[in-house]
Amino acid sequence: MITPKIKTGDTVRVLRGKDAGKKAKVVAVLPQEDRVVIEGLNTVFKHVKPRQSGQKGQRVSISAPIPLANVQVICAACKKGTKVSITRENGVRQRTCKQCNAVIE
Ligand SMILES: [Zn+2]
Repeated sequence: MITPKIKTGDTVRVLRGKDAGKKAKVVAVLPQEDRVVIEGLNTVFKHVKPRQSGQKGQRVSISAPIPLANVQVICAACKKGTKVSITRENGVRQRTCKQCNAVIE
């Protein structure tokens, strides 16, 4: 399994789909599916069945995962959407911005 270059807490920009151009925070990474869940984006309505009789079913909005290929990390140093390269410094895996070479935390 390849470790995703995006991790929880990153700010990303969506490149494709209905939320294209929007920026938000990654709240979950699903490496097996090559998808990420982004706060408040790609929302879909999910129908929740009533758990007890007499209750009404509800529609709740959740953020559906979107493919990793459709998002780009925003570099904190240059504020640009960028590709991330993985480098090793003294055996420590680092992510660096391909635009400005800053290390991305
Ligand atoms: Zn940068």
